[in-house]
This record gives sequence, C-alpha cells and structure tokens, in this order.
Amino acid sequence: MDEKQRMEELIELLNRYNQEYYVNDAPSVSDQEYDRLMGELMMIEKNHPDWISPYSPSQRVGGEVVSSFNKIKHKRMMLSLANAFSSDDIRDFDRKIKETIHVDEVEYMCEMKIDGLAMSITYDEGEFLYAATRGDGVVGEDVSSNIKTIRSIPLKSKETREFEIRGEVYMPLASLSRLNEERKKNGEELLANARNAAAGSIRQLDSSIASKRGLDAYWYYFVDAEKYGFKKHSDSLDYLTSLGFRTNPERRICKGVEEVLAYIAEYTKKRKTLAYDIDGIVIKVNDLKYYPILGYTAKTPKWAIAYKFPPEEVITKLEDIIFTVGRTGKITPNAVLSPVRVQGSMIARATLHNEDFVASKDIRIGDYVSIRKAGDVIPEVVSPLPSRRKGDELPFKMIEECPICHTPLIKKDAMHFCPNIHCEARNIEGLIHFASKDAMDIEGLGDKNIEQFFNQGFLKNIVDIYHLKEYAQEIMLLDGYGERSVLKLLDAIEDSKKNSLERLLFGLGIKEVGAKLAKTLAIYFKNLDNLMNASEEDLLSIRDVGEISSHSIYSFFKEERNIALIQKLKELGVNMEYLGQAKREYDNFFKGKTIVLTGTLSSMGRKEATETLELYGAKVTSSVSKATDLVIYGVEAGSKLDKAQKFNIKTLDEESFLKELENARNGGNS
Ligand code: NAD
Repeated sequence: MDEKQRMEELIELLNRYNQEYYVNDAPSVSDQEYDRLMGELMMIEKNHPDWISPYSPSQRVGGEVVSSFNKIKHKRMMLSLANAFSSDDIRDFDRKIKETIHVDEVEYMCEMKIDGLAMSITYDEGEFLYAATRGDGVVGEDVSSNIKTIRSIPLKSKETREFEIRGEVYMPLASLSRLNEERKKNGEELLANARNAAAGSIRQLDSSIASKRGLDAYWYYFVDAEKYGFKKHSDSLDYLTSLGFRTNPERRICKGVEEVLAYIAEYTKKRKTLAYDIDGIVIKVNDLKYYPILGYTAKTPKWAIAYKFPPEEVITKLEDIIFTVGRTGKITPNAVLSPVRVQGSMIARATLHNEDFVASKDIRIGDYVSIRKAGDVIPEVVSPLPSRRKGDELPFKMIEECPICHTPLIKKDAMHFCPNIHCEARNIEGLIHFASKDAMDIEGLGDKNIEQFFNQGFLKNIVDIYHLKEYAQEIMLLDGYGERSVLKLLDAIEDSKKNSLERLLFGLGIKEVGAKLAKTLAIYFKNLDNLMNASEEDLLSIRDVGEISSHSIYSFFKEERNIALIQKLKELGVNMEYLGQAKREYDNFFKGKTIVLTGTLSSMGRKEATETLELYGAKVTSSVSKATDLVIYGVEAGSKLDKAQKFNIKTLDEESFLKELENARNGGNS
C-alpha cells in the first residue's frame, strides 16, 4: 500500500474511532492503539504537508456535536493537548520552548491528567450562567442542568466580573464500581471505564440520572487569566481555590525539565493510590506572558503538553493454564489468574496466544505474572516474575490432543489445530449462526457468549441451547453476567421456540440454504415434516431451487445425525411450522380487504404496517377509492380520512387497529 492510501485508510479509521469515543461513548480500541495510529498519520502528514486536509482527524478537536442539547459557541476555542509518550518527547517540548522564548530554564506547572470529560463553565455577576462540553472545540453542548447536579460546583461566586473556567468532570473510582455493581445486578452492560462513564452521564437528557452518578470535577484553567491581572497560571488556580472551586491538590510547580521528569516518575508510581483514574500528566508553562509568543497549532496550545502513561500493568498469580478450542479448531492456551482489577475491571483469564508465546516468556503454572489490557478489553500476560519463584512452579507443556475430541493436534506455524472437522468445537460456528439475527434471533447469545459457554462446557450443539437453563447458576457467576441478564437470555431462548419455520431452516445451516431460500421452502412445504419427506425431484420443481441445492437439502435430511437433532428440537417444543402462511390461511379481520393507511402510527412505521397487513391477507393501496374497504389512520391524518368518511368507508384509529391485529394474531375472527 502506498503512503497516500495508508493516509486515507488512517483517516477513515480514526474518524470512526472518534465517533465511537466522543459521540457514542463506546470506544472499540484502546487509547494507546488510537494514539499509535494518530502518530502514524501525523508522521505521513509531516512528510507531505500538501496532503493535509482541514478535515483530517489530526486537525480537528474532539467529535461532532450531534446531541439534542442546545449548542453553545465557545468564546475561545476549547483545544486538545499535544501528546508526549517518553522523557525524550518531554525534553523536546522543553527545548522548543526555550528556543522560542529565549530562556535557559522554564517554570512549569505539572497537573494530574484526569481521564474524564473537558468542561467549561461561564459565570457573570456572581452567578453560574451555563456549562458547555468541548464538542468540536468551536461549538459545544449546553449541559448546564447536568453540571449543576455536581454539588461541589458553586452556583454563586464572589467574583462578579464575567469569567470562564475549564476543567475535567470525572467519575471517582468508588462511584464507578458502585454503578457497575448496580448494573451487574440489573443485567445491564458494564461501563468500560471512568471516562466513558462520565461522558455518558453528562450526555443524559434527564438530569436526575446524572445526579445519581456520583460525578465530581477539578478545575484547571482560568480563561484569559492575564486579563484578570494574573501573571502566572498557578496564581489563577489559587484564586479559583479561594473562590470555592475544586482544584487538584497534587499540582506542583516544577523548575526546569528535570523536575518535571521527577514529578512524572513519582506519579507513575502514585497513580494507583488516587481516588480517580489519570491517564497522564499535563505540563504547562507557568508564566502567562509567554502564551501569546508560543501560540497554538490548529488543535493544541504550544505552551502545554500531555504526557501519557504506558498501559497499566498489574501483578497477579497464574493459577493454571487451560486450553480452549476456537471455531476453526485453533487451540489457545489461557492463563487462569487470581482475580485482579486492571483498568477498572476484574480480570481472571488472559490469553497466552500459542505455544511459542508461552515458551519464549517461560511462563510457568504458579508464577506471578504481570498482566495488562491490550486494546482496553483483551487482557494479556506481559511477563512472568522469575524472582518470585519458589521452585514448585510447573513448566508449560503444550497438549498433544484436542481437549474436546482427543484427536492428535497438528501444528501450522506457531499455532496448533484440531484437524477433526467433526470435532464438536467446530460447532461453535454453527451455534453462532443458529442464534444470529436472521436465523433464530436469540438476543444475548452472540459469538462471544457462545464461545464462552462452549469452553465452559455448557454448550456443545444446537440442542444444548435449549438446556442452558440448567446452567443458570453457573452462568450468573461468570464475569459480566447478573441475575437479570441471565433471565433475559433464558427468556429469549424460550421465545425462539415460537419462531416460524423459515428461521429454523436457515438456522440449521444447510449448505446452499440462505435466508431467502429458507423462506421459499417454508412457504412451499408449510412444515418441516413435509420438507423432510420431499424427494430431490419435488425440490427441483420449486422455482429458485437448482440441482446443487436440491441435492444438498435432500442429503441433509437423510443424515442420521440431523434427523436425531431435529427430533430432539421437536421434543423440546421448537416450532416446525410456517406461521406466516398458516396465519394467512385462516379467516381474520384483515383477510381479503383493500386497506389504505394514512397519518402517522406511533406503534410502527408505514412499511411494517403494510407488511403486517399483507401477511394477514390484506391488500394495501395508497389512495382511497370506492374499492377501499378500510382506512386505518394515525395522527395528522389528512384528506384520505376525509374522503373515507365522505364515501362512508369504514375507518379504524390506531388503538382499534392494534386490537384487531391482536385478534388476528391469536387466530380469531372478530
Ligand atoms: P487528550 O485527552 O489527549 O488531552 C486533552 C484533554 O485533557 C483536555 O481536553 C482535557 O479534557 C483533559 N485534561 C485533563 N486534565 C487536564 C489538565 N490538568 N489540564 C488540561 N487538560 C486536561 O485529548 P483529547 O482530545 O481529549 O482526546 C484525545 C485522546 O483521546 C487520544 O489521544 C486518545 O488517547 C483518546 N481517544 C481514544 C479513542 C479510542 O477510540 N480509544 C478515540 C478518540 C480519542
């Protein structure tokens, strides 16, 4: 790939990550990965300045402003900070500053870089006016009502001049674990980290939710401080403290770059003892008179930099190594760890990738190991700590046969595979397909859960899905599950038994049978018995069925294993009938009627209403005529309703329509 293509690829990736991070509060990659890609993009742009587009993520602050909050234009742009990842980067920053302002030593202010959400508040005549998020740096969202729920923020001020302060709204770790405990109990998804939790809370339209989230804030910047008579940034922070604003007590004035580096080293150790997450240290020139000389880039001030910590590593004991089998038969060794908290979540397992990985690090059972989260989600073992060995640790030994079917493993490059295509482990793929949206549509049974249940021994084949309730207690003990989420999952599994035949047919994963052909077969044969008894010729006589698919379908239903599986599903109460067709066959209120829809229905869209009516044998047309039997109307119905009344055509409001639909669904005449 040439550099230009790579640049375009990076722009696309980073824009997507920005959207996930800033707008959805749900990042899919770690900050380190994001920063690495951004670094790569900036390097290409540095080498080719003429390629830089103003829309490049390297030139823009934050995300798009898409929320339903009122917009507020910032009086001064709210910028981001340039990043430093090493002491060399910090020295470089210091050197450039010294060269620009012609001094031998610079006085800096070092501050905690709390991982939260940047916020601006404006006061006038001694009163809180409004609070705004950073947004895209130019325009933010007015989140005053949520910010006012943070009790430490003064709503009145002794300072009567208009002034703006900026700081970080964050979720203390205690609030985050309390909230996640609650969410676990309620079966809700856990919040990935304090930053997303804080941002998500501030974006709540209902401020009573934000008020319960236990948020707090530290203020680190007095906008245009020099105009208020301050000479140094530190003086403006002291003044904010005197006005009753929370300013971070860990801040320190450092004289020269060596003191800055010592401060960074000190807080790299101390960060775990803080009551909030920090992801780095912010270093700012303290003397305000240099700010205009140093100036700004499109995105960052040149008088400050953010030093970012490397990913957090934690030490724990490796209790055991177990082997799991993936969809392709790939064998992965996994570390069973003494549970430990890493970046806000409890970790008890970590991937060991493959034999070479374990061997090259000489990881042994019983070792103390340092672990970290790669990509923020996937925990991995960084290295063992040989100095803590007692002598009874067991060296790693790769298994030779599949832990599921006991077939001897084969090795391809660094990986081991189970070559048995009938190995039950391969069923994972089939299970995922069976539960997927277009098949049985079982909510809460996605690929990760299936793989987890499979490796725990709860699931081996499709039939086991309907026996999962027997493992309810065990599932509740797995990380990320609570009572509510397990009950929800079991309900979804139970509900799937009522699906119409085409979903089951597609879910069985018969070669050549996609969702469309499954529907055709279901309509044609009406139930599974008819289809199972069909000859290849019968199948061939159906439009859309060719020789290859007729042979594949026929053979599938002749295989003993498949016949037994279907029999078991039947016994478990899984529906084997085509319901759409069956419904249309019996008389119902809508059958045979010509119907016109008008106005807006609140319960369903026009398309869904049309499809539903057609399913019950109605014909839906767009204009009212003498041939119309019925007009169904929602709010803001216009001339069609008038016309219906004029022609004396029967009309139904939404409530009556839904009642008739319910009757039809229950198979009745009304
Ligand atoms: P940043 O977090 O690197 O630094 C700027 C921010 O630091 C400010 O806006 C402010 O909110 C905060 N801050 C905290 N303490 C401060 C202090 N004492 N003084 C000044 N500012 C302080 O920059 P950003 O623009 O907010 O975010 C960019 C970073 O976010 C990236 O470098 C990356 O790490 C992360 N990110 C991650 C993803 C992802 O998908 N994982 C996507 C986008 C951004």
